[in-house]
Amino acid sequence: RPTVAVRVRFAPSPTGYLHLGGLRTALFNYLLAQKTGGVFILRIEDTDRERYVPGSVERLISILSWSGLTFDEGPGKIGSHGSYYQSERTDIYKYHVDKLIKEGNAYRCFCTPERLKQIRSLAQKAGKGIAYDRHCLYLSKRDIDQNLAQGVPYTVRLKTPDGSVTIKDLTYGNIIFNDKHIDDTILLKSDGYPTYHLANVIDDHLMGITHVLRGEEWLSSTPKHVALYKALGWNLPEFVHLPLLFNPDRTKLSKRSGDVNVEDLAKRGYLPEALINFVALLGWSSSSGKKDEIFTLDELIAEFSLEHIGRSGAIVMREKLDWLNKQH
Ligand code: GLU
Ligand code: ZN
Repeated sequence: RPTVAVRVRFAPSPTGYLHLGGLRTALFNYLLAQKTGGVFILRIEDTDRERYVPGSVERLISILSWSGLTFDEGPGKIGSHGSYYQSERTDIYKYHVDKLIKEGNAYRCFCTPERLKQIRSLAQKAGKGIAYDRHCLYLSKRDIDQNLAQGVPYTVRLKTPDGSVTIKDLTYGNIIFNDKHIDDTILLKSDGYPTYHLANVIDDHLMGITHVLRGEEWLSSTPKHVALYKALGWNLPEFVHLPLLFNPDRTKLSKRSGDVNVEDLAKRGYLPEALINFVALLGWSSSSGKKDEIFTLDELIAEFSLEHIGRSGAIVMREKLDWLNKQH
Protein backbone atom coordinates (compact mmCIF):
# COMPACT_ATOMS: atom_id res chain seq x y z
CA ARG A 1 0.00 0.00 0.00
CA PRO A 2 1.20 3.54 -0.61
CA THR A 3 3.22 4.98 2.23
CA VAL A 4 2.08 8.39 3.34
CA ALA A 5 4.80 10.87 4.23
CA VAL A 6 4.97 11.67 7.90
CA ARG A 7 3.48 15.02 8.89
CA VAL A 8 3.75 16.11 12.50
CA ARG A 9 3.04 19.30 14.38
CA PHE A 10 3.96 21.20 17.49
CA ALA A 11 0.81 23.05 18.52
CA PRO A 12 1.49 25.32 21.49
CA SER A 13 -1.00 27.73 22.99
CA PRO A 14 0.57 31.18 23.31
CA THR A 15 -0.23 31.58 26.97
CA GLY A 16 3.21 32.29 28.41
CA TYR A 17 6.63 30.87 27.78
CA LEU A 18 8.09 27.71 26.27
CA HIS A 19 8.84 25.28 29.10
CA LEU A 20 11.04 22.20 29.12
CA GLY A 21 8.07 19.92 28.45
CA GLY A 22 7.13 21.98 25.40
CA LEU A 23 10.69 21.90 24.14
CA ARG A 24 10.68 18.10 24.46
CA THR A 25 7.41 17.83 22.51
CA ALA A 26 8.78 20.10 19.79
CA LEU A 27 12.03 18.11 19.66
CA PHE A 28 10.37 14.69 19.35
CA ASN A 29 8.12 15.95 16.56
CA TYR A 30 11.09 17.50 14.81
CA LEU A 31 13.15 14.30 15.17
CA LEU A 32 10.40 12.09 13.76
CA ALA A 33 9.98 14.39 10.76
CA GLN A 34 13.71 14.59 10.11
CA LYS A 35 14.17 10.87 10.56
CA THR A 36 11.47 9.99 8.04
CA GLY A 37 11.89 12.80 5.55
CA GLY A 38 8.58 14.14 6.74
CA VAL A 39 7.22 17.61 7.45
CA PHE A 40 7.31 19.43 10.80
CA ILE A 41 4.57 22.01 11.27
CA LEU A 42 4.24 24.77 13.83
CA ARG A 43 0.62 25.63 14.57
CA ILE A 44 -0.43 28.33 17.00
CA GLU A 45 -3.45 27.32 19.08
CA ASP A 46 -4.60 30.78 20.06
CA THR A 47 -8.36 30.48 20.32
CA ASP A 48 -8.52 30.98 24.07
CA ARG A 49 -8.59 34.74 24.02
CA GLU A 50 -8.59 35.05 27.79
CA ARG A 51 -5.31 33.20 28.22
CA TYR A 52 -3.55 34.75 25.25
CA VAL A 53 -0.30 36.55 26.14
CA PRO A 54 0.74 39.18 23.58
CA GLY A 55 4.28 38.71 22.33
CA SER A 56 4.46 35.04 23.27
CA VAL A 57 4.26 33.79 19.67
CA GLU A 58 7.24 35.88 18.59
CA ARG A 59 9.24 34.73 21.61
CA LEU A 60 8.29 31.13 20.97
CA ILE A 61 9.41 31.26 17.35
CA SER A 62 12.72 32.82 18.27
CA ILE A 63 13.48 30.34 21.05
CA LEU A 64 12.64 27.43 18.73
CA SER A 65 15.04 28.74 16.14
CA TRP A 66 17.70 29.30 18.84
CA SER A 67 17.21 25.62 19.77
CA GLY A 68 17.79 24.57 16.16
CA LEU A 69 14.31 23.14 15.72
CA THR A 70 13.37 24.63 12.38
CA PHE A 71 9.85 24.02 11.16
CA ASP A 72 8.85 23.43 7.54
CA GLU A 73 5.37 24.93 7.65
CA GLY A 74 3.98 27.49 10.06
CA PRO A 75 3.78 31.22 10.74
CA GLY A 76 5.74 33.07 8.09
CA LYS A 77 6.38 29.90 6.10
CA ILE A 78 4.14 29.16 3.21
CA GLY A 79 2.26 25.90 3.29
CA SER A 80 -0.89 24.98 1.47
CA HIS A 81 -3.14 24.89 4.50
CA GLY A 82 -4.12 28.51 5.02
CA SER A 83 -3.21 30.28 8.23
CA TYR A 84 -1.26 28.45 10.93
CA TYR A 85 -2.92 30.64 13.57
CA GLN A 86 -6.15 29.06 14.74
CA SER A 87 -7.64 32.46 15.52
CA GLU A 88 -7.58 33.10 11.76
CA ARG A 89 -9.35 29.83 10.93
CA THR A 90 -12.68 30.38 12.69
CA ASP A 91 -14.69 30.15 9.44
CA ILE A 92 -13.35 26.65 8.89
CA TYR A 93 -14.43 25.52 12.37
CA LYS A 94 -17.83 27.13 11.97
CA TYR A 95 -18.36 25.32 8.68
CA HIS A 96 -17.71 21.92 10.24
CA VAL A 97 -19.81 22.66 13.31
CA ASP A 98 -22.79 23.62 11.16
CA LYS A 99 -22.36 20.40 9.25
CA LEU A 100 -22.22 18.37 12.47
CA ILE A 101 -25.41 20.03 13.67
CA LYS A 102 -27.17 19.45 10.36
CA GLU A 103 -26.24 15.79 10.39
CA GLY A 104 -27.43 15.32 13.99
CA ASN A 105 -23.97 14.76 15.46
CA ALA A 106 -23.88 17.97 17.46
CA TYR A 107 -26.46 20.24 19.06
CA ARG A 108 -26.82 23.72 20.51
CA CYS A 109 -26.86 24.01 24.29
CA PHE A 110 -28.65 27.08 25.62
CA CYS A 111 -28.19 26.22 29.30
CA THR A 112 -27.18 29.10 31.53
CA PRO A 113 -23.88 28.94 33.43
CA GLU A 114 -25.95 28.78 36.64
CA ARG A 115 -27.82 25.70 35.49
CA LEU A 116 -24.60 24.01 34.37
CA LYS A 117 -22.99 24.74 37.70
CA GLN A 118 -25.93 23.22 39.50
CA ILE A 119 -25.96 19.98 37.53
CA ARG A 120 -22.20 19.74 37.80
CA SER A 121 -22.35 19.80 41.56
CA LEU A 122 -25.19 17.27 41.56
CA ALA A 123 -23.13 14.96 39.33
CA GLN A 124 -20.16 15.38 41.60
CA LYS A 125 -22.18 14.47 44.66
CA ALA A 126 -23.48 11.39 42.88
CA GLY A 127 -19.91 10.47 41.93
CA LYS A 128 -20.74 10.56 38.23
CA GLY A 129 -18.11 11.34 35.62
CA ILE A 130 -20.62 12.87 33.27
CA ALA A 131 -22.00 16.22 34.24
CA TYR A 132 -24.12 17.42 31.36
CA ASP A 133 -27.63 15.93 31.37
CA ARG A 134 -28.38 16.43 27.64
CA HIS A 135 -31.26 18.74 28.43
CA CYS A 136 -30.76 20.59 25.14
CA LEU A 137 -30.39 17.51 23.00
CA TYR A 138 -34.14 17.09 23.35
CA LEU A 139 -35.29 20.65 22.64
CA SER A 140 -37.97 20.95 19.98
CA LYS A 141 -37.24 22.74 16.74
CA ARG A 142 -39.65 25.43 17.87
CA ASP A 143 -37.76 26.03 21.11
CA ILE A 144 -34.47 26.16 19.28
CA ASP A 145 -35.74 28.64 16.70
CA GLN A 146 -37.23 30.77 19.41
CA ASN A 147 -33.98 30.84 21.37
CA LEU A 148 -32.02 31.72 18.26
CA ALA A 149 -34.48 34.49 17.36
CA GLN A 150 -34.15 35.92 20.86
CA GLY A 151 -30.39 35.79 20.66
CA VAL A 152 -30.00 33.45 23.65
CA PRO A 153 -26.29 32.62 23.90
CA TYR A 154 -25.38 29.00 23.24
CA THR A 155 -22.52 26.58 22.98
CA VAL A 156 -22.39 23.62 20.60
CA ARG A 157 -21.87 20.14 22.01
CA LEU A 158 -20.89 16.90 20.38
CA LYS A 159 -23.51 14.19 20.71
CA THR A 160 -21.10 11.62 22.06
CA PRO A 161 -22.17 8.19 20.89
CA ASP A 162 -22.94 5.49 23.44
CA GLY A 163 -20.44 2.73 23.92
CA SER A 164 -16.85 2.74 25.00
CA VAL A 165 -14.04 4.32 23.01
CA THR A 166 -10.78 2.48 22.53
CA ILE A 167 -7.71 4.46 21.74
CA LYS A 168 -4.60 2.98 20.31
CA ASP A 169 -1.57 4.81 21.58
CA LEU A 170 1.90 3.90 20.37
CA THR A 171 3.35 4.53 23.83
CA TYR A 172 0.59 3.35 26.13
CA GLY A 173 -1.05 0.64 24.03
CA ASN A 174 -4.80 0.18 23.79
CA ILE A 175 -6.80 2.09 26.36
CA ILE A 176 -10.52 1.65 26.75
CA PHE A 177 -12.52 4.64 27.91
CA ASN A 178 -15.96 3.88 29.22
CA ASP A 179 -18.59 6.19 27.74
CA LYS A 180 -19.79 6.96 31.26
CA HIS A 181 -16.83 9.25 31.49
CA ILE A 182 -17.08 11.06 28.19
CA ASP A 183 -19.29 14.09 28.49
CA ASP A 184 -20.95 15.77 25.51
CA THR A 185 -17.88 17.81 24.70
CA ILE A 186 -18.30 21.50 24.03
CA LEU A 187 -17.06 22.23 20.51
CA LEU A 188 -17.96 25.87 20.09
CA LYS A 189 -17.97 28.34 22.96
CA SER A 190 -20.61 31.01 23.41
CA ASP A 191 -18.17 33.63 22.11
CA GLY A 192 -18.17 31.77 18.79
CA TYR A 193 -14.59 30.54 19.20
CA PRO A 194 -13.86 26.83 18.97
CA THR A 195 -12.66 24.86 21.97
CA TYR A 196 -9.23 23.27 21.90
CA HIS A 197 -10.80 19.89 21.08
CA LEU A 198 -12.61 21.07 17.97
CA ALA A 199 -9.88 23.22 16.48
CA ASN A 200 -7.18 20.66 17.24
CA VAL A 201 -9.01 17.77 15.54
CA ILE A 202 -10.10 19.77 12.50
CA ASP A 203 -6.64 21.16 11.93
CA ASP A 204 -4.87 17.85 12.47
CA HIS A 205 -7.11 16.38 9.80
CA LEU A 206 -6.97 19.26 7.33
CA MET A 207 -3.22 19.63 7.74
CA GLY A 208 -2.75 15.94 7.03
CA ILE A 209 -1.15 15.14 10.38
CA THR A 210 -0.13 11.47 10.49
CA HIS A 211 1.24 11.30 14.06
CA VAL A 212 0.04 13.27 17.06
CA LEU A 213 2.97 13.45 19.49
CA ARG A 214 2.12 15.35 22.66
CA GLY A 215 2.39 15.24 26.44
CA GLU A 216 0.56 12.62 28.48
CA GLU A 217 -1.63 15.31 30.01
CA TRP A 218 -3.61 15.21 26.75
CA LEU A 219 -4.27 11.47 26.87
CA SER A 220 -7.58 11.97 28.70
CA SER A 221 -8.76 14.29 25.91
CA THR A 222 -8.06 11.70 23.26
CA PRO A 223 -11.35 9.76 23.55
CA LYS A 224 -13.18 13.03 22.92
CA HIS A 225 -11.04 13.55 19.85
CA VAL A 226 -11.66 10.02 18.63
CA ALA A 227 -15.43 10.50 19.02
CA LEU A 228 -15.14 13.73 17.06
CA TYR A 229 -13.10 12.15 14.25
CA LYS A 230 -15.80 9.49 13.95
CA ALA A 231 -18.60 12.05 13.86
CA LEU A 232 -16.75 13.93 11.13
CA GLY A 233 -16.18 10.70 9.20
CA TRP A 234 -12.39 11.12 9.24
CA ASN A 235 -9.57 8.62 9.71
CA LEU A 236 -7.59 8.73 12.93
CA PRO A 237 -3.94 9.73 13.09
CA GLU A 238 -1.51 7.71 15.18
CA PHE A 239 -1.39 8.90 18.78
CA VAL A 240 1.91 8.99 20.65
CA HIS A 241 1.74 10.41 24.16
CA LEU A 242 4.96 11.37 25.91
CA PRO A 243 5.39 10.46 29.59
CA LEU A 244 4.83 13.06 32.28
CA LEU A 245 7.70 15.07 33.72
CA PHE A 246 8.34 15.15 37.45
CA ASN A 247 10.47 16.99 39.97
CA PRO A 248 13.03 14.77 41.73
CA ASP A 249 10.60 14.36 44.64
CA ARG A 250 8.03 12.91 42.21
CA THR A 251 5.72 15.89 42.43
CA LYS A 252 4.42 17.43 39.21
CA LEU A 253 7.16 19.36 37.45
CA SER A 254 7.82 22.66 39.12
CA LYS A 255 5.84 25.52 37.73
CA ARG A 256 8.35 28.01 39.06
CA SER A 257 9.19 29.45 35.70
CA GLY A 258 12.88 30.06 36.43
CA ASP A 259 13.38 26.32 36.58
CA VAL A 260 11.58 25.27 33.45
CA ASN A 261 11.36 28.38 31.28
CA VAL A 262 13.58 27.71 28.27
CA GLU A 263 14.08 31.41 27.57
CA ASP A 264 15.20 32.01 31.15
CA LEU A 265 17.57 29.08 30.95
CA ALA A 266 19.00 30.44 27.69
CA LYS A 267 19.54 33.84 29.29
CA ARG A 268 21.31 32.20 32.20
CA GLY A 269 23.87 30.70 29.83
CA TYR A 270 22.58 27.22 29.13
CA LEU A 271 23.48 26.20 25.60
CA PRO A 272 20.93 24.91 23.10
CA GLU A 273 22.92 21.67 22.66
CA ALA A 274 22.76 21.01 26.40
CA LEU A 275 19.04 21.73 26.61
CA ILE A 276 18.28 19.57 23.58
CA ASN A 277 20.27 16.65 24.99
CA PHE A 278 18.61 17.13 28.32
CA VAL A 279 15.03 17.01 27.06
CA ALA A 280 15.82 14.26 24.53
CA LEU A 281 16.43 11.87 27.39
CA LEU A 282 13.23 12.73 29.26
CA GLY A 283 11.17 9.66 28.44
CA TRP A 284 13.28 8.44 25.53
CA SER A 285 16.44 6.38 25.57
CA SER A 286 18.86 5.57 22.80
CA SER A 287 19.11 1.99 21.64
CA SER A 288 22.67 1.74 22.95
CA GLY A 289 21.30 2.35 26.45
CA LYS A 290 24.60 3.97 27.43
CA LYS A 291 24.45 6.46 30.25
CA ASP A 292 25.84 9.97 29.94
CA GLU A 293 25.81 9.89 26.18
CA ILE A 294 25.93 13.19 24.35
CA PHE A 295 24.36 13.63 20.95
CA THR A 296 24.45 16.26 18.26
CA LEU A 297 21.08 17.02 16.73
CA ASP A 298 22.11 14.94 13.69
CA GLU A 299 23.00 12.00 15.89
CA LEU A 300 19.67 12.29 17.66
CA ILE A 301 17.92 12.20 14.31
CA ALA A 302 19.83 9.06 13.37
CA GLU A 303 19.09 7.39 16.73
CA PHE A 304 15.50 8.45 17.20
CA SER A 305 12.74 5.91 17.17
CA LEU A 306 9.22 5.94 18.57
CA GLU A 307 9.72 2.46 20.03
CA HIS A 308 12.16 3.83 22.56
CA ILE A 309 9.71 6.20 24.16
CA GLY A 310 8.97 4.89 27.65
CA ARG A 311 5.75 4.99 29.62
CA SER A 312 6.89 5.87 33.06
CA GLY A 313 7.28 9.48 34.04
CA ALA A 314 10.64 11.16 33.57
CA ILE A 315 12.41 12.99 36.37
CA VAL A 316 13.88 16.37 35.59
CA MET A 317 17.29 16.52 37.30
CA ARG A 318 18.92 19.90 37.22
CA GLU A 319 22.37 18.44 38.01
CA LYS A 320 22.17 16.53 34.77
CA LEU A 321 21.49 19.70 32.84
CA ASP A 322 24.42 21.44 34.53
CA TRP A 323 26.61 18.46 33.70
CA LEU A 324 25.52 18.49 30.06
CA ASN A 325 26.12 22.20 29.82
CA LYS A 326 29.72 21.71 30.94
CA GLN A 327 30.33 19.13 28.22
CA HIS A 328 29.48 21.55 25.42
N1 GLU B 1 -2.49 23.59 22.35
C1 GLU B 1 -2.17 22.40 23.08
C2 GLU B 1 -1.00 22.72 24.02
O1 GLU B 1 -0.88 23.85 24.40
C3 GLU B 1 -1.82 21.32 22.10
C4 GLU B 1 -1.94 19.93 22.62
C5 GLU B 1 -1.83 18.96 21.45
O2 GLU B 1 -0.71 18.82 20.95
O3 GLU B 1 -2.83 18.43 21.02
O4 GLU B 1 -0.20 21.92 24.39
ZN1 ZN C 1 -28.08 22.75 27.51
